[in-house]
Amino acid sequence: MTDLKQFIRDVADFPQPGIVFRDIAPLLRSHFEPTIDAMSGLLTAGEWGRIDAVAGIESRGFMLGAALALKHGKGFVPIRKKGKLPPPVVSIPYQLEYGEGVLEMQQGSGRLLLIDDVLATGGTLAAAADLCLAAGYQVDALGVLIDLNLIKDFRWESQPARTVIRY
Ligand code: 5GP
Repeated sequence: MTDLKQFIRDVADFPQPGIVFRDIAPLLRSHFEPTIDAMSGLLTAGEWGRIDAVAGIESRGFMLGAALALKHGKGFVPIRKKGKLPPPVVSIPYQLEYGEGVLEMQQGSGRLLLIDDVLATGGTLAAAADLCLAAGYQVDALGVLIDLNLIKDFRWESQPARTVIRY
């Protein structure tokens, strides 16, 4: 299988001095389908069968999550930054690796696979999972393309973040 990690570009001092940003744009440009295939493998066929929709976190989680949803015939649920979704929305504040913000989603029900591109401190993914519960959903699994391995054993409600590429 192709080593997808080699297509990730390391960008020093972005978006702030001292941060090495892992840029997935070259990977998506040249190996989008293998990337989605690899992320598909994070769930068994049985697990895919049980989920109702994929929730993606704005904005790179949209690209990955929407492609996964389409591939598996599932719905897609957007989790957005504050002020982008029309009301009524459920909101949750969260801490980022560099800054803080608010995530929002619309109420719903069913079993979700929650997707983002990168797990750094885990703050975004954990807040998004909490938000899914607050909005009425059940979170069956959490998946990311890249785990920066800043948190050695990330867990949300005892669930790990399943990952394709680990640093
Ligand atoms: P965390 O909340 O886990 O600290 O940060 C994860 C969030 O920040 C993700 O939504 C991700 O998009 C973004 N992020 C943090 N570091 C990186 C990085 O190095 N590369 C990319 N592509 N996204 C990052």
